[in-house]
Amino acid sequence: MHEMSIALGLVEAVRAEMGRHDSKRLLRVGISIGELAGVDRQSLSFCLDATFAEEHWGQVGTEFRAQAVEVRCRTCMRCFQPPRDDFRCPDCQTAAVDVLSGDAVEIEWLEVE
Ligand SMILES: [Zn+2]
Repeated sequence: MHEMSIALGLVEAVRAEMGRHDSKRLLRVGISIGELAGVDRQSLSFCLDATFAEEHWGQVGTEFRAQAVEVRCRTCMRCFQPPRDDFRCPDCQTAAVDVLSGDAVEIEWLEVE
């Protein structure tokens, strides 16, 4: 399951971050979901809860935020937010773009004690 492997990766990153700050308990976590990541928010939430339970972290609040897609035209270097599934540059109509953001699932913040 796609969402489960993402959940495991996120928990791994949380654990590393907590270790760096010597934190004992995770209270809440903020996660941004790129619109291109193809992640179902509900099933990711379910997988995270299951993983938190396995880690014996108790109740952890999760907050999700949608990350808009931003791309850069390779021809004229213009950055823009494409409408859904239309990646042509509004200036030069080239479809060759680099994705700058919106294709990943990332931890934005942690609340720990
Ligand atoms: Zn362009």
